[in-house]
Amino acid sequence: MPGMFGFMKSSEKPLALKCPGYLLLLFIAVSAANIQAAVVLQYHHVSTSTPASTSISPNLFEQHLSYLQEQEYKVWRLSRIVEQIKRGTPLPDKVVAITFDDAYSSIFSEALPLLESRGWPFTVFVSTDQIQETSGSLMSWTQLKQLQQRGAEMANHTHTHTHLVRRLPGESSKHWRERVSGELLKAARILKARLGTDLGLFAYPYGEYTEELQALVRDLDYTGFGQQSGALGPDSDLSALPRFPMTNQFGAMDAFKTKVAALPLSAVDISPHRHLIEGHAALADGVRLKFKTRNFRPEGFACFISGKGKVAIDVSAGKEMVSVSVPGPIDLKPGRSRLNCTVAANSPELEGRFYWFSHPWMYKEADGSWYQEP
Ligand SMILES: [Zn+2]
Repeated sequence: MPGMFGFMKSSEKPLALKCPGYLLLLFIAVSAANIQAAVVLQYHHVSTSTPASTSISPNLFEQHLSYLQEQEYKVWRLSRIVEQIKRGTPLPDKVVAITFDDAYSSIFSEALPLLESRGWPFTVFVSTDQIQETSGSLMSWTQLKQLQQRGAEMANHTHTHTHLVRRLPGESSKHWRERVSGELLKAARILKARLGTDLGLFAYPYGEYTEELQALVRDLDYTGFGQQSGALGPDSDLSALPRFPMTNQFGAMDAFKTKVAALPLSAVDISPHRHLIEGHAALADGVRLKFKTRNFRPEGFACFISGKGKVAIDVSAGKEMVSVSVPGPIDLKPGRSRLNCTVAANSPELEGRFYWFSHPWMYKEADGSWYQEP
């Protein structure tokens, strides 16, 4: 027992002898509450006839829901998870939120019946300019209203679903801020007028953000969600919360089981910190990450870069901090990539679960132009 909480000197008497019983119970409660993990799942289409990169089959989607049900995950509204983190109220373990980006029609036809029959809430991130009076590949305003009445919450995904980090030719910083604020605020106004809601939840189109954009989202008092992997916890950055993208490829059952059980891991330092990588020498010296020591074995760290798989790392562990570095040069391909690092939890009650960190990059073309969407 002594040492369990990490702050007892060996000369001190065991905790139980020094503390009244209720304090000991409190310590135990706080220790259990340290397992605070909420996982947000990100879906697009639930269909077999839509693009593979953003689709999950209705069958696999139903398997996801059945697993969550069997394993007694708590499916919460996304707004509830965010509120608890903001208030500092401890999250219970095994909380999940289900989100859909872009308001595709298959959410209405395929996902809604499966979610509604379980009484589970979900969140749809809507780009307001794309929604029409009648449904097509996207749901109509009437369908969104019905969805809302049947358990969904509607959130902000900009007005026009543009690449927010990209400046227009010759655009000043001030004009960029005005244009991007306009994207969020216009969508917020329309959601308010059409559906009577503004939850302050925002998903970055394409999962793309920079520190400058995060600051703007913070200034507008929005909570931002990306598409980088990981779980939410008390230390999460509310301007760029992770979500696990779920498709047939990334949501196969084995991967799904590991991902919904993920534990939050925030870096206290990332060097270089930026998300937008310009110039091929930018990551010549690699990346260094610093994490607070948790109940993991530092030597168990593994890091992965999209398109490269597992990469070589150097790990050095101090008493309070663990440094993980990916030696340079890191040569990315133009487009979006991610650095993911995971480490297994080292305690019996967290058996088989991983702390999960993810840092997204946008890498421009060699001539400085933006990459094309596939
Ligand atoms: Zn989108």
